[in-house]
Amino acid sequence: MIRILYIGNHKNFVKLQDLSTNFNLAVSFNEVASFKSAEDELRNNDYEIILSELTIGDESALNLLDKESLIEGIPVILTEKSPSHEITRTALKNGAFDILDCDYLNSIILEDSFKEAIRYSKENKLRQDLEKRLDGIYANTRTILDNITDGIWSLDEKGKLLIINAKAKDYFKDFGKSPSLGDTFFKHIDDFLIEKWEPLNQKALNGQSVISVDQFHQKEQLIYLETACTPIKSGEVTVGTSFVVRNVTERELAEAKIRENERNFRSVFTGSEVPILLTSTATNKIVDLNLACSRLFNFTVDELKDMNFFDLISKSRIDNYQKDLESYRKGKIDHMDSHIVTKDQEDIPVQLSITEIFYNDEPCDLTFLYDISARIETEKKLNEARELAEKSAEFKSLFLANMSHEIRTPMNAMLGFADLLKNTSLSDEQREYVDIISNSGQDLLVIINDILDLTKIEAGKLELRPRVFEVMDTIKKVLRLHQHKADEKQIDLSLQFSSNIPEFLELDDIRLTQILNNLIGNAIKFTEKGEVSLKINKTVEKDQEMIKFIIKDTGIGIPEKEIATIFENFSQVDSSLQRKQKGTGLGLSIVSQLCQLMGGSISARSEEGEGSEFEVLLPLKIGNAIVKNESKTESKKELITDELHVVICEDNPVNVKLATKILDELGVVYHVAKNGSEGIDAVKEHNPDVVFMDLQMPILDGYEATKEIRKFSQVPIIAMSAHVLEEEQNKCLDAGMNGFIPKPFKIDDIIKELQKQFSFKAEIKKDQLDPKWKKLNMPGLLNLAKGDEEFAISLFDIFIEQANKDKIQFEKALNNNDVDSMKSIAHKLLPSFMMFDFVQLHIIGEKLDNREATEREREYFLERLELAINEIIEKRSSFIQGN
Ligand code: ADP
Repeated sequence: MIRILYIGNHKNFVKLQDLSTNFNLAVSFNEVASFKSAEDELRNNDYEIILSELTIGDESALNLLDKESLIEGIPVILTEKSPSHEITRTALKNGAFDILDCDYLNSIILEDSFKEAIRYSKENKLRQDLEKRLDGIYANTRTILDNITDGIWSLDEKGKLLIINAKAKDYFKDFGKSPSLGDTFFKHIDDFLIEKWEPLNQKALNGQSVISVDQFHQKEQLIYLETACTPIKSGEVTVGTSFVVRNVTERELAEAKIRENERNFRSVFTGSEVPILLTSTATNKIVDLNLACSRLFNFTVDELKDMNFFDLISKSRIDNYQKDLESYRKGKIDHMDSHIVTKDQEDIPVQLSITEIFYNDEPCDLTFLYDISARIETEKKLNEARELAEKSAEFKSLFLANMSHEIRTPMNAMLGFADLLKNTSLSDEQREYVDIISNSGQDLLVIINDILDLTKIEAGKLELRPRVFEVMDTIKKVLRLHQHKADEKQIDLSLQFSSNIPEFLELDDIRLTQILNNLIGNAIKFTEKGEVSLKINKTVEKDQEMIKFIIKDTGIGIPEKEIATIFENFSQVDSSLQRKQKGTGLGLSIVSQLCQLMGGSISARSEEGEGSEFEVLLPLKIGNAIVKNESKTESKKELITDELHVVICEDNPVNVKLATKILDELGVVYHVAKNGSEGIDAVKEHNPDVVFMDLQMPILDGYEATKEIRKFSQVPIIAMSAHVLEEEQNKCLDAGMNGFIPKPFKIDDIIKELQKQFSFKAEIKKDQLDPKWKKLNMPGLLNLAKGDEEFAISLFDIFIEQANKDKIQFEKALNNNDVDSMKSIAHKLLPSFMMFDFVQLHIIGEKLDNREATEREREYFLERLELAINEIIEKRSSFIQGN
């Protein structure tokens, strides 16, 4: 049933209702007389058709048609008496579905109109639904489009803007002109955009998809836009174009940077003077190289490309190279050295530095090759130069040692005779001259000793000889030496000795004395009034106990700027008159180096005009108490020498004269031998108590002579030499000598040596010995046995029995290189050596006991032990027989 609302006069309605009775269509009518009532009706009820008279009274149905929300797609059919063409057009234009002429209305016309209206209404509804759905789709698409970060728009085939998203609008806003929907696109955008995009649009219209990246200036900034322009097709026909625009500035700039880096790399790579190779990490094939590299290998670039780099490494080095490469890649080594082979088979040493990079998406090694031939050559030369320098240092030390011999020989004569001359009757003037000669000679000797000391230190040849000594004793001796000079200058020389200093110390007391002598000597030298003090105390530095010596004076002081240099060689503070003193500028340098050698240090503080303070720190090592052998400090007067027999083995007549003169003064009986060979004979003939042996002599030198003498006698042999180097002294001891007197020798030196060797003898003399004991000449044994012959014989027996066993044991230990056994055997024998005056054996025995003996010394010990046993056997029998 079709529901129809009729608006109009009732008479007309009745007519129409009549007409509808003939319809094939089922209809039902509702009737209202005014538009006002119609509106109410439409608000409250649903109708499928509105049938209305065009005018009711003053009102027109056209007003109703305006109320779209009320009509909402319901077809409105109007009736009018003979409507003019104009009225019909107006009605239809205002939305009427049909206008019927009342005069010609019949049921067919009416039914047709109704049917048509119903069909239209259905279609309209369908269309409206469709539109609604389309609107939804469009809204979704829009949202999507607007949220896309690319700018998107499309044009129809005529270039009209159909769609544009928010991002595209932003682009245009930023560029300047903005096109609106429906605009002819290329008339509403800036010229510079037209220039870029119109050709793209043309191509797309011709069915081609195109992409282009272009530079634009936007708000004074350079940006890159990538534009993709695609044809929109309906079947085969292109009906428009779509644009997708993306800002690719960052990507373009990054790519530009990469391109720039690549360009730079390329120019460094090709232009570098350092040979550079690019090889595949996997295959070692050469991927690329620079000209410098081609020059290094003497192959062309093309020849080298695709070669295996390993084939260019020297064959003898390839294994090492591969190992090194592995370590290098693991970061275990920071550079590699190897050798490469050139086209001409030349072997070149190179240093390689490798960086792993990606090249054309493949892991590659970028290898820098440095030709190190020149460096190796320089290193070789440097080594040669260093060896030469070392040799020249050795030569220097040898030269100085020899020179010292040459200087000391005449010095020996000068000083010795000056000494002797002093003891003759001289006029005052002569005595003064002799004093000058003697003093100048002593000064010269100090300088020579300084230079030799320094040479030894610099050549690393100065060996310390630490030993236990009584501290106070040594210090007092040092002070005594300077007391005279201090008294002369009326300067107080004082000592402050802290009670916490141990009585005995173990260090090289000779060098300590040298240090103190130098510092106290300087202090007195540069002080005119006041005092010089020596303070000694204990301190702790870096957890180590140290002994501290402070030498302080009230002298002229040292300018601040000079303090730092006074410990350097030959440095003397600039020479004002006050400072014009004797000296070489070597003293403090030697002192400082000695302190360092002894594991200590020296420092100085001073104020010009006020005085100076030198502080010496040495490691404190407490020594075991030693029993003093008083006889060693016997004075010249107490030494009884008239029964001593001495052989002087010396070729230089001047030295002979000097020595004999000294010995004459001492009342010693002597025999002179002019060379080593004569010396041996003299020992055999005179059986002397001591031999003074020169080292350098014609026919047989001192070393050889000593070795010969040692085959039959244990007589103490004292070397006399101008060579004061440590090695020289060791050489003497090795040859079997017992002591050493430096030339030029002085009376005191000779007395000291005699005292050392004959301390017991001196005592024996006093006791008016039995000739038996005298013949035996064993002061040690005599001292122990105190004349008891039986006891002495039992000591001989014990020694012979024990030493024979020990000899066999020692030989075994020597063959097995058993140092421990050698030590214990030597240790056991030491008291016997002392007792029987086997000085030589005692010296080597001590070395064995300290595990310091050389191989030669061990063998020598065995030889000497055998001789010693034989000697004791002989002595025992001659002692018993009393001859
Ligand atoms: P020298 O043998 O010339 O005395 P040193 O090496 O012992 O050489 O001393 C170097 C210089 O340091 C001296 O020449 C002197 O000028 C200065 N000097 C050393 N000790 C003192 C001191 N106690 N007082 C003043 N000057 C000193």
